[in-house]
Amino acid sequence: MNVASVGIVGAGQMGNGIAHVFALAGFDVLMTDVSQEALDKAVALVDRNMERQVSRDKISAADKKAAMGRIKTTLKLADLGKTDLVIEAATERETVKQAIFEDLLPHLKPETILTSNTSSISITRLASRTDRPEKFMGFHFMNPVPVMQLVELIRGIATDEKTYQTLVKVVEKLGKTAASAEDFPAFIVNRILMPMINEAVYTLYEGVGSVKSIDESLKLGANHPMGPLELADFIGLDTCLAIMNVLHEGLADTKYRPCPLLTKYVEAGWLGRKTQRGFYDYRGEIPVPTR
Ligand code: NAD
Repeated sequence: MNVASVGIVGAGQMGNGIAHVFALAGFDVLMTDVSQEALDKAVALVDRNMERQVSRDKISAADKKAAMGRIKTTLKLADLGKTDLVIEAATERETVKQAIFEDLLPHLKPETILTSNTSSISITRLASRTDRPEKFMGFHFMNPVPVMQLVELIRGIATDEKTYQTLVKVVEKLGKTAASAEDFPAFIVNRILMPMINEAVYTLYEGVGSVKSIDESLKLGANHPMGPLELADFIGLDTCLAIMNVLHEGLADTKYRPCPLLTKYVEAGWLGRKTQRGFYDYRGEIPVPTR
């Protein structure tokens, strides 16, 4: 199947990055969110990020202009019904995602491929509640989308080969690399990454190290480009907690229990960079550790 147009649900950190790479690769993009403010912010951010690519000679000014011209927004979810491929990139909560699919399904063309950018939720379960489990897949981009090379492709139990091969071609057109993961909680990347981040929060919670010493230890001692707490702030602490809960419930193993300190930060609304406070406070010139 030829994919020319893409609908994106959710214009947050991931949605704007996904819009960015699809528009640059020549796809028509239609993005929706619950507020006009979120949509305006996302388009402004894509513009800024593409401008940075122009200034670094990664793309031309003409590429940017053409790509920005391909991005449209709407507050009506139903408008996405006419696109060839829908990527749901809304908040990591199953009830939110399910409600989106329920509202969208009556408007979808029969051939449209439906995907979720979920970091952890069962693709098979999400697919089973739609009218097209064979045309449903996990399409997991990494953050920040314009920079990260990998895309995880997750087939649910009913996903057909044609759908999978179509998405492999789409990933190639984006200039990215696809990795196939089986549909088990948090797939590959987050199955490994999130317990490490959670352990870093336990290390902080138990007083083994401070925010600064934990991050420095992993950067200088394990050659990680970002410390685990800095990375957690970048991902979003609500998303990290949601993924740990999916691992904990889905694999029924206590080794995945979320650290109570991670829960506390989320309860405080300190969700990391997106709310300007998490393990670091980003409200000043330089990030300051909050513990
Ligand atoms: P975010 O909080 O930055 O953005 C979520 C967006 O969804 C918000 O703009 C919100 O208004 C919107 N939204 C919520 N309900 C909606 C609805 N009913 N209809 C339309 N829009 C709605 O979150 P994010 O970091 O962009 O994460 C989005 C998805 O991508 C999640 O499933 C997450 O697990 C996944 N993901 C996140 C990362 C990461 O590093 N943050 C990486 C890979 C995948």
